[in-house]
Amino acid sequence: MKSSEIKRPNRNSVTTINEDGSRRVIYPADVSGRFTFWRRVVGYGLIFLYSALPWIQINGNPAVFLDIEENQFHLFGLTFVGQDIWLGFFVVSGVAFSLYYVTALLGRVWCGWGCPQTVFLDHVVRRIERLVEGGAIERKALANQPWNFRKIRLMAVKHFLFFALAFLIAHVFLSYFISLPKLYQMIQSKPWDQWGYFLKTMFVTFALYFNFAWFREQFCIVLCPYGRFQSALIDDHSVIIGYDEKRGEPRGKLGTEGAGDCVDCLRCVQVCPTGIDIRQGLQIECIGCSNCIDACNEVMTKLDRPKGLIRYDSLQGLKGFKTKFIRPRMILYTLFLLIGVAVMSWAIFGIRPVSMSALRMVGAPYYLDSEKGMIRNQYMVRILNKKNESVKCRLEIESHDHPIVGNGVHEEIEIPALGEVMRPVIVTLPQSAYHGQFSVKIEIESEVNRFSISKTVPFLGPGSKEDE
Ligand code: SF4
Ligand code: SF4
Repeated sequence: MKSSEIKRPNRNSVTTINEDGSRRVIYPADVSGRFTFWRRVVGYGLIFLYSALPWIQINGNPAVFLDIEENQFHLFGLTFVGQDIWLGFFVVSGVAFSLYYVTALLGRVWCGWGCPQTVFLDHVVRRIERLVEGGAIERKALANQPWNFRKIRLMAVKHFLFFALAFLIAHVFLSYFISLPKLYQMIQSKPWDQWGYFLKTMFVTFALYFNFAWFREQFCIVLCPYGRFQSALIDDHSVIIGYDEKRGEPRGKLGTEGAGDCVDCLRCVQVCPTGIDIRQGLQIECIGCSNCIDACNEVMTKLDRPKGLIRYDSLQGLKGFKTKFIRPRMILYTLFLLIGVAVMSWAIFGIRPVSMSALRMVGAPYYLDSEKGMIRNQYMVRILNKKNESVKCRLEIESHDHPIVGNGVHEEIEIPALGEVMRPVIVTLPQSAYHGQFSVKIEIESEVNRFSISKTVPFLGPGSKEDE
């Protein structure tokens, strides 16, 4: 494409919107080079990982499996249940802070190299498009020509492949929430036998298809909040993708006297998936994909000039100063990160293998056996095993200064893997020893699994508060 035919991005408006407000479709040109190669390797590795996580078994469960129906969450060998939901705070804040940290250090490296949106768009969707319709020039020409048999055929093939890809990814996505045997059963059954699952699958499929076929870079520009935060997260020493103005300017066509190294070929604009001109400085639309680096390096190599007119560098580095990796902001962030990791590890590894609750049974608050002269209180103890193996424990009751007796205490209780056991506990006290409401400690302890959990419940009798 000749540089005179390329629309020069204008910083006064979003690059993907025309002056009349309509969408300006971007047709990024092909590029090859060192960064493209390594991004592709990383991208395919990540696609493999995203697809494999529900298949990899750790401690008898998938590496990542969020079983919402059963209220169990399996993450890399650890199992959490609904009661552990508070740990989600650490996961969400940990991920958000790690993103802050990486951005302060390396700009939008996540967007360009690891985000599923970029990974699937760049390494699968656009490659399918190139395969079916050809390079950027052919794709643009095809889009602009009137409908004919060839156009209908190519569009049908392309959209069929996009839909098939979306359908496949939707199933991989669902396998994070539905067990593989169940998913397999769901695939084999008729839609009307599994309406709920079928609708969920189709919703995810259509959302992905819409993204692949139309929305694309708009997701990063309009929807994703991360790009908007970047200016607050980076500073002059964060490594970003930038243009060396000192070396490139004044730009001018090859042979222009006094011109810098930029020959204004607009190759960096042609390959940009968000249609921006990196020479206009850091912009929120830049997803850090490094296409412009490889494109410009290609041009520089042809002109026998040093590579790196566009490169990974800090704003200070691009001005010719030294980039400081160790700086007050990074020291503070590192400190916060280490504290966060320590607190999260303490919280995760401090989770007991079982949880327990003890509640008064419904009905009368106590039972008075006047004949035997005894008062009885009844509780329901619920013990939940969060481990993938059975757990054994003993139930004990205790009360200072009260000669209480309980049923089923000292007995061994076995709770199956990820199962629960309900035990009614009847605590009895001679009426003569009752002088008002007091507390009873119900405890479960296990020497084998090394834990002890206790709950305190009130023992009620005649004249106690609940009796009034
Ligand atoms: S590819 Fe390089 S030489 Fe060409 S316009 Fe961009 S910065 Fe200038
Ligand atoms: S400016 Fe460069 S790094 Fe940023 S999105 Fe465009 S091609 Fe990718």
